[in-house]
Amino acid sequence: MINTAVKQEFGSNPLKVRDTNHYQAEYVHSFVDKWDQLIDWDRRAESEGDFFIRLLKEQGAKKVLDVATGTGFHSVQLLKAGFEVTSADGSPVMLGKAFENARKRNHILRTVHADWRWLNRDVHDYYDAVICLGNSFTHLHDENDRRKALAEFYATLRHDGVLILDQRNYDAILDHQIEPRHNFYYCGDNVRATPEHMDESLARFRYEFPGEEVFHLNMFPLRKQYMQRLLHEVGFQRVTTYGDFKETYRESEPDYFIHVAEKR
Ligand code: SAM
Repeated sequence: MINTAVKQEFGSNPLKVRDTNHYQAEYVHSFVDKWDQLIDWDRRAESEGDFFIRLLKEQGAKKVLDVATGTGFHSVQLLKAGFEVTSADGSPVMLGKAFENARKRNHILRTVHADWRWLNRDVHDYYDAVICLGNSFTHLHDENDRRKALAEFYATLRHDGVLILDQRNYDAILDHQIEPRHNFYYCGDNVRATPEHMDESLARFRYEFPGEEVFHLNMFPLRKQYMQRLLHEVGFQRVTTYGDFKETYRESEPDYFIHVAEKR
């Protein structure tokens, strides 16, 4: 269903909204239009460097499925680096923006509108790598949905394929009450992204843009070890976790964890 709403709608008790399908209603046009201000492509490219490109090349990957395309940042970086990329997302609003962003940079995106839980209904091919980046997996509120989505990612990978999935370091926020820094993914200067509410099943973040425009995302706070366990349980044989873009890290330090889950 295409979301044509102008405003986000969380109802009378926003803290009650813990629903996997709600991402569609959260990524309204006005928020999607602001998203690139939040992530600032140039500064994001600078902070990530060639981390993902190197990882994918080390894995021998050529054909990549970006399941959380968003506004297209990683799809475009990978196309530029010579990978064969298919760009999927469950939000048609996001996919439209991604296509437009890629066109501006002289690339044509091959897009697929697909919800992860039924990915293989819409994606009929095999990939060397699936990427799910930018703290996207956190949108799944139910464990069944998380298992189903991972099983769908697994099924679209070749026998020696790899899944690269990142997540915000929610452990640090849940356990130590520290506010994460925003120097990696939220690179925009004028944007404040803060956790407005945190409990074991809800991370409600507030995104403030200049002009007092405010948006929210209600997400599930994935703990790192839980995520690693799920990846193993759906069948991935080896899971390596990086902190931000490094292999060694102090537990409370990174803003993000990046899991590299290998099928073989
Ligand atoms: N990867 C992009 C980035 O880093 O800028 C986008 C990240 S954005 C936080 C999360 C994306 O995941 C959104 O584009 C949203 O539509 C998509 N998404 C969330 N839940 C989904 C689901 N169940 N199926 C497919 N896409 C989903």
